Amino acid sequence: MVKISFPDGSSKEYDRGVTPLDIAKSISEGLARAVIAAKLNDELVDLNRPIQKDAQLTLLKPDDKEGLFVLRHSCAHLLAHAVKRLYPKAKPTIGPPIENGFYYDFDNLPIKDDDLAKIEQEMRKIVKEKIPAERVEHKSKQDAITTYKSNKYKVEMIKELGEGASSYKHKDFQDLCRGPHVAHSGVFEKAGFKLDKIAGAYWRGKSANKMLTRIYGLCFSTKKELDAFLHMREEAEKRDHRKLGQQLGLFSIHDEAPGMPFFHDNGYHIYTRLIEFMSMEMRRLGYEIVRAPIILNKQLWKQSGHWDHYKENMYFTKIDQQDVAVKPMNCPGNILIYKTTRHSYRDLPMKMGEFGLVHRHELSGVLSGLFRVRCFTQDDAHIFCTEEQIKEQVIELIDLVHRVYSAFGFDYSVELSTRPEKAMGSKQIWEAAEQSLTAALQDKQMDFQLNPGDGAFYGPKIDFHVKDALGRSWQCGTIQLDFSMPEKFDLVYEGADSKKHRPVMIHRAIYGSIERFLGILIEHYAGKFPLWISPRQVRVIPIADRHAKYASEVAAEYRAAGIRAEVDARAETTNKKVREAQLDQVNYILVVGDKELGDGTVNVRTRDGTVHGTKKYREHIKAVQKEIIARK
Ligand SMILES: [Zn+2]
Ligand SMILES: [Zn+2]
Repeated sequence: MVKISFPDGSSKEYDRGVTPLDIAKSISEGLARAVIAAKLNDELVDLNRPIQKDAQLTLLKPDDKEGLFVLRHSCAHLLAHAVKRLYPKAKPTIGPPIENGFYYDFDNLPIKDDDLAKIEQEMRKIVKEKIPAERVEHKSKQDAITTYKSNKYKVEMIKELGEGASSYKHKDFQDLCRGPHVAHSGVFEKAGFKLDKIAGAYWRGKSANKMLTRIYGLCFSTKKELDAFLHMREEAEKRDHRKLGQQLGLFSIHDEAPGMPFFHDNGYHIYTRLIEFMSMEMRRLGYEIVRAPIILNKQLWKQSGHWDHYKENMYFTKIDQQDVAVKPMNCPGNILIYKTTRHSYRDLPMKMGEFGLVHRHELSGVLSGLFRVRCFTQDDAHIFCTEEQIKEQVIELIDLVHRVYSAFGFDYSVELSTRPEKAMGSKQIWEAAEQSLTAALQDKQMDFQLNPGDGAFYGPKIDFHVKDALGRSWQCGTIQLDFSMPEKFDLVYEGADSKKHRPVMIHRAIYGSIERFLGILIEHYAGKFPLWISPRQVRVIPIADRHAKYASEVAAEYRAAGIRAEVDARAETTNKKVREAQLDQVNYILVVGDKELGDGTVNVRTRDGTVHGTKKYREHIKAVQKEIIARK
């Protein structure tokens, strides 16, 4: 007998040689139909693998993370199977599962995008044939090499294998593989798969090697999930901030400064609104807002530890024969300001904010719009406080984070990361700090995910992930306790006992990078910015030339009231101008003609096509101002 233990802690005895599928059947027929592979201790195995020893067993379904991995892996073989039927001369090389699906690289497969439909059709045919997958253990490496002798790529891979090559045989198709596989191709009847695109890829990614044909496929546990993914992707493409950024004249990126965005007037308007909003919230909580230079002496970076641990990402130069660095973080600058005055316990907490421009070197290959850049502005702040004040300060920050994200209609999730293996500071300090963070989260009745051991070496942290309109998650905000910097820079305050004490430092950012947050907002709103941050709040459209002067006067009145307003006086039809204003995501489109000119009114429309009718423009200005203040 063998003793099988299950994830729920239960265990049961079975005859030696029992398979995961037998066990699934003994539990229920439904389960047996749903499972596609199993995990035996830490090894992924086929459902028909006989079990010889006591073991932990997890039965995997396609909607488990590991089950999905097996499904995607098997789908890559299904693709190779179909390709070999249609193009017998093609040579399959490698085909791993990836996020959302899989790919497979083939040599000698000259196909075009149009051919994918035909290949996919063949895959569906194989699915209908319900072909079983049969595991073949090769007697020796040489035996495997003989089997694959016509495919030099497989031979190369076999030579690199440790002992024991295995293959899977699907009737008329055999492929080198470690496994595990779904039991038969009929499993894909319930799954959702689709061939996606073709690309060129060098064998082993080396440009000296031959260029192969890579076919990308999508694969999900159900058709419904595949459809949801396709819909999401289509929406995301429409909302791509790089595309909308150009269309709406928000920003541009130039070869002269890769990864360093240029904000145009419309983009910079949003950018400054974000800073203004945050500053207002910070002033309310008694923050000081400071500004430090971006180039600082090497010595400071040695003291902070960046020189030793972050050099690869920093930019350097020399000034007056001195080594200097462009700051990658704002903390040392804030610390220099803290140290200019003496601090008493009565002054704490001291909250110092900086909208600090930082530069960090990223490889050119990973740069992407506003999401991955080489310079950005953080809405950074450092709170210097006593250990006893940590909890109340964190609660204040959690409230602030909530107010800020809610203003943009974001839901968010929270993660708490605790002491890693290599950590600075005593265990007691860490435990106390982690307790303060946990207590603060519990006080606010926040659900949070615990990441044990994921904290920074200098202190535990709370991270905030916003969820956008498409359900995508973005890590933005962070609250990090730090016991290390105050030591390194010998920060002190005078306690009630007149003795010197070490303050704790809390690093915190809520937008994170303003550039990236703006990119997220563009996609979240699909360019339809709410009035309070919109760069195009009002556009006045004169019907004929004789209304142009009145249109300009009206626009000037809106601008004088602090509202962004422009005039479209082009000699186009009114309909066309209204349509373009809608595409430009103008919040209020004001049409003026004879009637409006006569009685000081404007005809108000919104970008969704609603006509709100004629209004006295002075009254409309007040209504717009109110709406901006309300941040609707
Ligand atoms: Zn395989
Ligand atoms: Zn910092």
